[in-house]
Amino acid sequence: MSEVRVRFAPSPTGYLHIGGVRTALYSWLWARQHDGTFILRIEDTDRERSTEESIQIVLDSMRWLGLDWDEGPEVGGDHGPYVQSERLDIYADYAETLIRSGHAYRCYATKDEIAAAREAHQKSGTKDGFRFQSPWRDRADAPEDSNARHVIRFRAPHDGTTSWMDEVKGRIDILNSTQQDFILLRPDGMPLYNFGCVVDDLTMGVTLVARGDDHMINTAPQILLYEALGAPVPKFAHMPMVLAPNGEKLSKRHAAVGVLEYRDMGYLPDAVLNYLARLGWSHGDQEIFTRQELIEKFSWDRVGTTAGRYDAKKFLHVQAEHLRMLSDEEIARWTVPFLANIGIEVGADDSVLLKTIPYVRPRAETFIDVADAVEYFFRDVEFEAKGKRKFLVPANAQALLRLAEVVETVEPFTREPLDATVKAWLEENELPMKVVAQPARVAMTGRTRSPGLFEVMEVLGKEKTLARLRTGAEIAAAAETPTA
Ligand code: GLU
Repeated sequence: MSEVRVRFAPSPTGYLHIGGVRTALYSWLWARQHDGTFILRIEDTDRERSTEESIQIVLDSMRWLGLDWDEGPEVGGDHGPYVQSERLDIYADYAETLIRSGHAYRCYATKDEIAAAREAHQKSGTKDGFRFQSPWRDRADAPEDSNARHVIRFRAPHDGTTSWMDEVKGRIDILNSTQQDFILLRPDGMPLYNFGCVVDDLTMGVTLVARGDDHMINTAPQILLYEALGAPVPKFAHMPMVLAPNGEKLSKRHAAVGVLEYRDMGYLPDAVLNYLARLGWSHGDQEIFTRQELIEKFSWDRVGTTAGRYDAKKFLHVQAEHLRMLSDEEIARWTVPFLANIGIEVGADDSVLLKTIPYVRPRAETFIDVADAVEYFFRDVEFEAKGKRKFLVPANAQALLRLAEVVETVEPFTREPLDATVKAWLEENELPMKVVAQPARVAMTGRTRSPGLFEVMEVLGKEKTLARLRTGAEIAAAAETPTA
């Protein structure tokens, strides 16, 4: 294991946003490239949103993506616990240390006092944002009841500048005069984000903090905390947000943002990672990357400084490319649950399923497409209304019956002899292929689009082929002749 220790620290919200996944991915790639450690930490100090269920969704999402963590929930590690609500005594210790060294103080200001200060600030007409200046910053005394309700605030410096060299954004300088005495611990002992984050990153030995640039406002306060604690400051990498096509922050209103939705839409984890990796990072013109290539090629200096815009079409294209990189056996394995979803229970080693994959793979983009494209091999044909109306008509009934007679004699019942026999028959009778092709396709598959006719016949086998052609002929004979 190398020195590199990176982490992903989501606040569970009920789904894992794909923007968060991209953050996790970059850190994970960095860890894997450097034989480092990838830590998963749950920032669950918002007790209302952080249910067991929403934490589980984070873990399920990470597992589905294959972003395995070396330390964290359910895995353990030497720096646990890895869930913030279980670390309250650690935060209390660090807060005490800061109080002792003069970098923090107990603030007993009441809500009313803060509200009054805010009101006075508003009335003063100043354009500066409100920053509460606690009278307790400079008070040496304490209330009579030393347990009186209080928060712990950071005694922020007002002079000087806090700077860091961001791995993505370059050098950043923030004037300390813009800082306020932010709260470290609430009265119930829950840390506020900046404090919990610093204590955790510090105690977990994190060497590089990667996150969205919506957190850049927090970085100077966090660096001030490291300095106050006399601790080494990690590196920071802030990446631009993932935006919607219209430039807004990507949300549920624009697209599927929860990563498990992509699982349910029949996407591959590797495709999701590939698409997200490219949304904000580039390596020449290359669009398609395997997981291994991403690990090898990722670097912070190629993370762009402008936000990537989500493009559903491109995402689907990347997914389709990844699907086609799989072997037939792998496609079958991924498709099995989607077949089960539509009521078809087969195993990944089912011989019919395996036979169909080569024929459906060129057109399928997701595993839902694959399941849909092979459906009629496993159950009775369901006719698409339009195709049935157009092709299963009295004029085609005879041709379907004749076709059944012709193919009945073919042995072995495989694509090439079927093709040769049917073509010879058509030639002999001077019939064009189109007389039988579409009616037969509709009769056998219910659809007007499918793999080649003889490929379908081969996979269906003789018995089903004949039965479907004959049923198609009956339906055709009984249909009304279209009037227009
Ligand atoms: N819990 C924070 C979030 O989800 C983590 C930010 C960070 O990585 O420091 O935004």
